[in-house]
Amino acid sequence: MATAAAAPAHVAPSTKSSLREDLTCAICCDLFREPVMLACMHHFCKSCISRYWRGTQGPVTCPQCRKEFTCRQFQTNYLVAAMVEKVRATTSDTYIQNLEKQLRETLESHRLRREDYINSIRRDKDKMDTIKRLGADLQARVKGEFRALHQILHDEEMCMLEQLRREQEEELEKVQRHLEAVKLAVRELEENIKALQQASAATDNIILSELPQLRPCVQVDNAPQFDSNGFSNKYMAPLQYITWRKMFSCLKPGPCPLTFDVDTAHPSIRVSRDKTVAVECDCMMSYTEHNKRFLQCVNILAAQGFQSGRHYWEVEVGSKPKWDLGVASEGVDRHSRIKLSPESGYWTLRLRNRNEYSAGTQPWMRLQLGSSPQRVGVFLDCEERRVSFYNADDMSLLYSFTNGPRGKVFPFFSPCISGSSQEPQPIKLLHYPPVALSG
Ligand SMILES: [Zn+2]
Ligand SMILES: [Zn+2]
Repeated sequence: MATAAAAPAHVAPSTKSSLREDLTCAICCDLFREPVMLACMHHFCKSCISRYWRGTQGPVTCPQCRKEFTCRQFQTNYLVAAMVEKVRATTSDTYIQNLEKQLRETLESHRLRREDYINSIRRDKDKMDTIKRLGADLQARVKGEFRALHQILHDEEMCMLEQLRREQEEELEKVQRHLEAVKLAVRELEENIKALQQASAATDNIILSELPQLRPCVQVDNAPQFDSNGFSNKYMAPLQYITWRKMFSCLKPGPCPLTFDVDTAHPSIRVSRDKTVAVECDCMMSYTEHNKRFLQCVNILAAQGFQSGRHYWEVEVGSKPKWDLGVASEGVDRHSRIKLSPESGYWTLRLRNRNEYSAGTQPWMRLQLGSSPQRVGVFLDCEERRVSFYNADDMSLLYSFTNGPRGKVFPFFSPCISGSSQEPQPIKLLHYPPVALSG
């Protein structure tokens, strides 16, 4: 028989047990079997009451309330019978085992879900920590970059003010020296005037035999010229632009003036004399053997390789319909046809069909650019292993590889064979500001 403790959790045990008591036969103390009702409204099992009355002669009594009945009559109570069956079913062993199993399973699933949510909370907290840490790092980085710019400006300002102070001092000194000389001359003249006046007054009494002793007159140079234009010219200038130009050469990294390494050029690439312009041509030119040279793909590298620090350079692609550019590891295979991707040592941005830009991943990742950059900026951060591409016309970011190279890399370019009937357009390495200006 089931105990109250085994009752389903969702039913209060007291309700359950009192119902069970109500449906228990007072004779056999078990749940009714074929319950029947006497005229006094008390219920018993049909067999129990029949057995109870069997030996009795004459009137019979209700075992519960002792009421007497002259005839042995009872009524089958189907409603009570149905309730008994229900209670019997819900207290059966299989029913309870089933319930206990459901209980265990529900509990377990709740525990698992709680575990999931707790893990999720931990992950969210970790993420927030990461965001805060990264934010703080970036903040320090931004501050550092601006501090460097402020320092350059501050140094320039101090330098210029110091120069102005020295020049002003010099001008003042020149006038000051003249002023002192004139004052001295005045004093000497006053001394002489006094001596002469005394001599003149004495002539009333004595005959003047000779002029009094006079001090030698001090000769004073002409007053120095102060050229206010010459003094201010240097400072009445486009100071901001002049300073900005000076700052430009201090930028870290500032645009790096690259040149092409002609020894790496595929025989279909023509390079200008100053090594800043490369253009593809249909024919192969004669070339000297060099193991640095690309022989399969129409590629070329810059002469400047990098393996530490941060570097930035700009490339003019104009309206060329097709190109690849970026960086290539020093050790890339130059003699076979290779798919450009970080896995094969290339971090590139590419253009096909005039307006289809892609990052050189495997497979290519198409980029939706708002405009077609005429100049592309490439930023290489060797320590952070980052290669980023910018539209150098407005410095908007086009794409950034964060799985950048380890070891030495070279700026990489492919003018591509366009195959069109149009005159091929060159790739130009930009020296900015132009060398002529920066001197
Ligand atoms: Zn009974
Ligand atoms: Zn009774």
